[in-house]
Amino acid sequence: MSHQEWIARCIDLATENRAHGQAPFAALVVQNGKVVGKGVNDVKATNDLTGHAEIRALQAAARQTGSRRLAGCVLYTSCEPCPMCLGAIYWSGITQVYYGLSIAGQAEFSDLPQRQYAEFRLAAQERSVQALQASPDGVDPRRPFLAK
Ligand SMILES: [Zn+2]
Repeated sequence: MSHQEWIARCIDLATENRAHGQAPFAALVVQNGKVVGKGVNDVKATNDLTGHAEIRALQAAARQTGSRRLAGCVLYTSCEPCPMCLGAIYWSGITQVYYGLSIAGQAEFSDLPQRQYAEFRLAAQERSVQALQASPDGVDPRRPFLAK
């Protein structure tokens, strides 16, 4: 199947997901031309805010292949990944992603991903989420990494 055909399949799945009362997103992880992971957004059904289609597809692919390392696979998704999903894609080792609707195109429906990407370009102290280091006196925060 061509990249465009995989994306068309994702758009069909996303449309079906919307018809079932869920958010209109779907993703597929493909290895050697075969689907090894399929995911649809299930945030509303599960109340799990990480239940994005790409995350679910990566989880399914890891189960199917028996590995969390998915290098060599291709991820197809109905919409350009949000920052959370892009982070998960980095963790997976996947280096090829194809999407249908761009982040800019999604802004017609929700501009949150676009605003998140814009905020990541700001200096840390200028972001709306403050991530601050708090190291307790006498406690080495590297200890879990050094433990045997
Ligand atoms: Zn996402």
